[in-house]
Amino acid sequence: MVDTTELEQDYKFVRFIINRVVPFSYILKKLGHSDNIGGGIFCPFHDDENHPSAKVYRDRDGDRLWCFSENKMFRPADAIRLKLLKTSYSTVFNGIWSRLPEHRQEELLKDYEEFSQLDKSAFLPEGWDDLYKELEKFKYGSIGIEGVKDLLSDFVIRD
Ligand SMILES: [Zn+2]
Repeated sequence: MVDTTELEQDYKFVRFIINRVVPFSYILKKLGHSDNIGGGIFCPFHDDENHPSAKVYRDRDGDRLWCFSENKMFRPADAIRLKLLKTSYSTVFNGIWSRLPEHRQEELLKDYEEFSQLDKSAFLPEGWDDLYKELEKFKYGSIGIEGVKDLLSDFVIRD
């Protein structure tokens, strides 16, 4: 097993792995929601019993849940952060990491390395910091698209 003792202290790494490995279908099942991943589902992140307003998308980065009603995107780790699942990042991480085959662990570590390099990229234009912070909030669902739209267009059209 690939040793991650140091990385486990970094919640970014733990979130990254959870987002990559834990599918929304598993989370939805745990919550007693329909796990009809291909179609519309009830968003587990807000109270709505009337109509399905969310959809799950999957790519090599893991699952994303888009809620059309809230205009927000959620990742699997958000179900822990927002306490939908009564567990902790480290409990989930420890549960999944040890079960992954070593080649998969190595692959994930390599992906994480690339991801954190991107994160630290030094060649960013002025004003990027503010935009980046807002985009992060959007990514983790704490603000809607409206919150970043103006900032984004300012950033793109300024000269
Ligand atoms: Zn929602």
